[in-house]
Amino acid sequence: MELLQKIRNMDTKDKFKLLTFDQYLGVILKNPEVTRNSFQRLHDMVMSYGQSEYSRYGKKHVHYNFFDDPFSVGKAIFGLDWSIMTFMNVLKSAALGYGQEKRILLLVGPVGSSKSSMVDLLKLGLEDYSKRDEGRLYGTVWYAEKGTNDVVRRSLGFLNEFDEEVECEMHCDPINLLRLIYEEGIVSDDPLRELNKNIHSDYRVRSWCYPCPKCDDSFSRLLKHYRGNWQEIIRNHVRVRRIIISDKRRVCIGTLQPKHEKDQDATELTGDVNYRAVAEYGRESDPRAFNFEGEFQKANRGIMEFIEGLKLDVAFLYDLLEASQAHRIKARKLGHMDIDEVIIAHTNPPDLKKLEKNELMLALKDRTTQIPVPYVIRLEDEKKIYERDYRQETIKSHIAPHTIEVAAMWSVLTHIEPPKEAGMDIVQKMKLYNGQELENWSLEVCKKLREEHPDEGFTGISPRYIQDKFSNAVINSEHRCVNPFTLMYELRDGLKLHSSISTTEREKCMEMLGVVEREFDEMIREEVQEAILGDEQAIQKLCANYIDNVKAFTRGEKVTNRFTGKDDEPDERLMRSVEEKVDITENKKDDWRREIMNHIGALAMEGEKFRAESNEKLHKALRRKLFEDQKDTMKLSSLVETVKDEDTERKINEVKNRLIKTYGYCDECATGVLTYVGGLFARQEEEHRRLSTY
Ligand SMILES: [Zn+2]
Ligand SMILES: [Zn+2]
Repeated sequence: MELLQKIRNMDTKDKFKLLTFDQYLGVILKNPEVTRNSFQRLHDMVMSYGQSEYSRYGKKHVHYNFFDDPFSVGKAIFGLDWSIMTFMNVLKSAALGYGQEKRILLLVGPVGSSKSSMVDLLKLGLEDYSKRDEGRLYGTVWYAEKGTNDVVRRSLGFLNEFDEEVECEMHCDPINLLRLIYEEGIVSDDPLRELNKNIHSDYRVRSWCYPCPKCDDSFSRLLKHYRGNWQEIIRNHVRVRRIIISDKRRVCIGTLQPKHEKDQDATELTGDVNYRAVAEYGRESDPRAFNFEGEFQKANRGIMEFIEGLKLDVAFLYDLLEASQAHRIKARKLGHMDIDEVIIAHTNPPDLKKLEKNELMLALKDRTTQIPVPYVIRLEDEKKIYERDYRQETIKSHIAPHTIEVAAMWSVLTHIEPPKEAGMDIVQKMKLYNGQELENWSLEVCKKLREEHPDEGFTGISPRYIQDKFSNAVINSEHRCVNPFTLMYELRDGLKLHSSISTTEREKCMEMLGVVEREFDEMIREEVQEAILGDEQAIQKLCANYIDNVKAFTRGEKVTNRFTGKDDEPDERLMRSVEEKVDITENKKDDWRREIMNHIGALAMEGEKFRAESNEKLHKALRRKLFEDQKDTMKLSSLVETVKDEDTERKINEVKNRLIKTYGYCDECATGVLTYVGGLFARQEEEHRRLSTY
């Protein structure tokens, strides 16, 4: 009951209050930004979320926080800061009226790049912005209180006696009426100029559109009725209401989906005659007998999106041109009408190419601004796409370590081109792009690599393909475990039937799967090795033992055996077995051992103790030695055999538990990885045997 009371007591926002025209002028005097045009509003909306700058590949980048998806609808854009920056620069120029507002913004990118997500986010952003104080905007409402005479009601196009108001279908800004009375010579001074004189803000109020045909018509009829007394009209019949932008209800947002060419109909874009109302008003050209329900009209003051814009029938491309170039549209039986909306189309490069030779396209070309939206070429960003979609909390199956990494790695490798640099392979290039310094290459080289292939990211595998296969792997896992093995199987298997890539692309994709498999081998081999080594103590013990022997060797002394207390000769076999692991030859061993002693001495001077990790090379050698020892005692290669002795079984279980506890494996993928790495070792041993027989 308390909850119910609480809900009932919630404040009603005054968003839905009907204002008089005078009240609206009051709002404008205080907040002239409510009259911004669609470009300015969209730009300010994105900027309201903040931004940050950073440098990558030798270029300054800007990250706009808005595209991180503040609404948590799973549409965050990753790795496309450069594209978004281009888009925002265009939008800014349009907002300032530098010419971009006359262009169609064409997002060009391969299938499954984030073109739609970008537009979806912008739409959501506008919806939300219109609900906030800083983003509010207002529309015209024609009003006639009960009992008003029929002439007026008919002038306003009221269809029945119960109507009290009718909202402008194109969400005309009421301020446009001030433009009308001035341009029609009803008043001699420009009311907008007077208004601006009283505004103490950098923002100058403008009327971006002439009132729509319906508002224009209503005003003219009432003007006759009131014999030119325009103040009466404004006072009695013009009201103002806040617009809450909505994609669902088609308020200030329009969308056109491609269909078969013969199904396309101009009325979908520019509205249609309402034949029932024609019977009432007598003429098809009467604005009261017209439904302003075309996408262009619905999108007024917001965003108009053309999905796969270039698949549009040629006849409509002219409409599109006129809409962007002149900010006006022509509807059947009616004159031109002004519109104020951001027109965004998207397309993929093949569709763009198809139209390139088309004459109309030539006209279209310099009236569009192309914004490239490629695939991601940075591993960390590509990983985020799948981490967003496949979060462990939302999936019943266990997601094994490296699963997402492997998918993202493959994807990126298919997006980038092999480097021209001698001695650099494609994996190294991928790592450099990802911001990892390599032994022979610093990140400086990235700038050059990018310049070699400026078109990178327009071919290769679509994230959508990977998402499909990932989902398959999840389903096939039957709530158990999705791991790199099962995923790579799906990826490879699906490639045979993948229809939207060319044969050469398919070959490259196959080849890159092989590259990923080798990288993956390397990764899990390291990981299993780490897990077998287990705790740090073993390595420190081996280190102490090694140092004892080296000390004795360099001083020509004997070593006191820690167990028997007897003095022994330094253990040459032990020392060599460590040193060989990092390729220290018999000739170099004296130098090396002296170097280690000097290192110990230098540390001692500073009061520090020498540990295994004090010397990187020694640390590596010790780890390898230890691993070799352990591997022999537990016979990792025997993992692939079905019968194991008890001791091996126990040791394997220890390693498996470590994989589960420390590395995030589950029982299934831990077993899988151990078996797989066991196989790798078995093959290696086989190779060794084969070589030693020759
Ligand atoms: Zn209107
Ligand atoms: Zn697992």
